[in-house]
Amino acid sequence: MNNKPTIAVIGAGLGGAAAGALLQQAGYPPRCTNRHQRLRALGQASTLAPT
Ligand SMILES: Cc1cc2nc3c(=O)[nH]c(=O)nc-3n(C[C@H](O)[C@H](O)[C@H](O)COP(=O)(O)OP(=O)(O)OC[C@H]3O[C@@H](n4cnc5c(N)ncnc54)[C@H](O)[C@@H]3O)c2cc1C
Repeated sequence: MNNKPTIAVIGAGLGGAAAGALLQQAGYPPRCTNRHQRLRALGQASTLAPT
């Protein structure tokens, strides 16, 4: 029997997606939901750079 709780992640942006991946990695399969069901183009490019 699996006694691990299901953890809900509301919002699957950068923070939510990262939290979901880390929960999964830690053995807690998350339930992720997002307000929008599809990714939408916002017309900008994103870059991730070390600070
Ligand atoms: C135009 C623009 C350009 C940017 N460019 C860069 C860049 O080049 N480099 C960089 O490092 N950062 C950039 N940023 C900042 C970066 O996008 C944010 O810092 C980052 O996305 C914040 O992550 P987050 O997970 O907190 O929020 P978000 O990524 O905004 O994710 C929040 C998610 O929650 C969902 N949500 C909201 N309310 C609900 C609800 N009630 N129920 C369910 N789901 C919900 C939303 O649909 C969204 O998917 C930019 C931001 C903008 C607006």
